[in-house]
Amino acid sequence: MLSKAPRGTRDILPKEVYKWHYVEKKFREICALYGYEEMRTPIFEHTEVFTRSVGDTTDIVQKEMYTFTDKGDRQISLKPEGTAGTIRSFIENKLYADTQPTKLFYITPCFRYERPQAGRQRQFHQFGIEALGSDTPSIDAEVISLAVQFFNELGLKDLSVNINSVGCPVCREEYNKTLKAYLDAKSDVLCETCLERKDKNPMRVIDCKNPTCKANITDIPFMIDHLCDDCENHFDKLQEYLREMDIKFVVDKTIVRGLDYYRKTAFEIISNDIGSQSTVCGGGRYDGLVEQLGGPKGISGIGFGLGAERLLLTLENNNIEIENPKSTDIYIATIGDTAKTKSFGLIKELRDNHISADIDHLGKSLKAQFKYSDKINAKYTIVIGDDELANDAATLKNMETSEQTTVKLSELVNELKNRL
Ligand code: ATP
Ligand code: MG
Repeated sequence: MLSKAPRGTRDILPKEVYKWHYVEKKFREICALYGYEEMRTPIFEHTEVFTRSVGDTTDIVQKEMYTFTDKGDRQISLKPEGTAGTIRSFIENKLYADTQPTKLFYITPCFRYERPQAGRQRQFHQFGIEALGSDTPSIDAEVISLAVQFFNELGLKDLSVNINSVGCPVCREEYNKTLKAYLDAKSDVLCETCLERKDKNPMRVIDCKNPTCKANITDIPFMIDHLCDDCENHFDKLQEYLREMDIKFVVDKTIVRGLDYYRKTAFEIISNDIGSQSTVCGGGRYDGLVEQLGGPKGISGIGFGLGAERLLLTLENNNIEIENPKSTDIYIATIGDTAKTKSFGLIKELRDNHISADIDHLGKSLKAQFKYSDKINAKYTIVIGDDELANDAATLKNMETSEQTTVKLSELVNELKNRL
């Protein structure tokens, strides 16, 4: 137990962390292009923040949340997704009082007690954005386009963008009646979860993974065929904007999303090459959520959450290589104690000049020091031994060309500044 990380968690080791830096940097860059600013919220919130937003008939709240009572008897949950905490903060900090819209992004770990498999972990990471304060479909189009540009710039060109409308409270209520009547007639063939959802949140039945349920509801009515005029217009206009931007999409009636707060636009971005866990990005509009979490009435919102682990898997499966940036400029190899002592003035000066440098701390032989220099991908190795000390000089070896030159210690930093 002591030497094993908890099930469903993964260490991100130095040998792969550069991939994370790369995708995070790209995400920040793209968010900046669209005017989205970073928001950082706590890893945990009062449980109610999630039950009230994600919804208590959802898998996330019913089965997946890490919930505990803290020492002060508070009900606390680790965040299973990024939106709820962001909205809580938006309300608490009265960001709605600023000029709207408010455009936010985050990069955060999330926690869900799920059955771990490739692309499904108990601690995973989400990149997400939230656009608050606008209810026009143009911002829906912007949100989708941001995600698409992010994927494209990473080299992923053929992901499918699937969109749907899940209606609003007005048309959903009507639709739910139709849906419930349909499901009532199927009561004897539905699983227990679906029976419960049929009464509490019937649309959720469409999301059931149980093969028997799936096989028996093939002619289930879909929300998109029962939209009110307002929702219909919103959805049409969104498609118009997407076409104008040349963003390819398909309308997928079956998207209901695993969170209760969605209204109107819901969308998923799918990568067909990472097996069954293929949804890399999911999002939608959540008009009503701000009010539901205790904020003012009438503030709309839309956002997405994008799974970083699944993104990296997708990149890997598409053979998109991320270059590991050479991080060390200089390795200083020394022979003997006097040389090592002397080199400490030099290494300090190099680092003061923002030239990255490393040195032996294990008393390695010269050969072993060169091996280490290779391992850290040093661009140059500086050798200081007795001969060099006698001449106040160092041997400078270009690790790529193997070319060697002797340089006076007093000129070394300037010489390197010119070369690097
Ligand atoms: P799924 O249907 O695969 O369970 P979801 O609908 O539960 O996904 P969302 O709540 O929309 O997922 O979360 C947004 C994104 O976060 C997903 O598209 C996925 O890329 C990622 N994600 C969700 N759960 C996990 C997990 N347990 N491990 C890794 N990534 C996850
Ligand atoms: Mg899920």
